[in-house]
Amino acid sequence: MESEEAILREIIIKIGGKGSEALVPILISKSNLDEFKLAEKAKMTINQLRNVLYKLHANDLVSFTRKKDKKKGWYIYFWTLNKPKALKYLLEHYGNERKQLENFIEVRQKKNYFICSNCHIELNEESALEQNFECVECGELLVLKDDRADIKKISKDLEELDKRITHLRGLVSKFELPQRKVKMKEKIKKFKKKGKFVQKAKSMKSVKKFKKYHERKAGKKKRR
Ligand SMILES: [Zn+2]
Repeated sequence: MESEEAILREIIIKIGGKGSEALVPILISKSNLDEFKLAEKAKMTINQLRNVLYKLHANDLVSFTRKKDKKKGWYIYFWTLNKPKALKYLLEHYGNERKQLENFIEVRQKKNYFICSNCHIELNEESALEQNFECVECGELLVLKDDRADIKKISKDLEELDKRITHLRGLVSKFELPQRKVKMKEKIKKFKKKGKFVQKAKSMKSVKKFKKYHERKAGKKKRR
């Protein structure tokens, strides 16, 4: 399977367009990158760089902070790649692709398609019927299309895509798991600070015990 870098490259180029390739290794390796240094390293003009960064930013794939340069009086922007967001973005893209493939298979399994063996134009049954099963281009009689090979190919593509999706989910969870753990720890800390966590647990136990004890006693009395 592809490395994280290869995947991030795919996403950045998809959104940033041509010329954004040079940015990938730099953005991956560091955060808070001074945009002038970034442009220099990527061998881009500052305008080319900003063009790409704005596109990435519009999709929430990079974030920035800015600091005023005291000498020059203007702002300098520092950029950081948002890796989990970028991976999730691709995951979403794959999800849409998956739907299209599934849809193709479903439609082809349910419905008949007709084809002209000269022009290779494909038509669904309704359209073929409308033109009397004759090709509008060459007049040839349309024939029922055997979809089995297509379905097989698309099914294979779907399998490949699923593998990529699983791999990508693994990469995404690598970022999410530590975050979730940190959040959980913070929650427990808060509870412990207030003493709620321990108190609640203790009081629940003692209330249950108390209830059970009295229920047993009451039951014995009734039976007598
Ligand atoms: Zn034809």
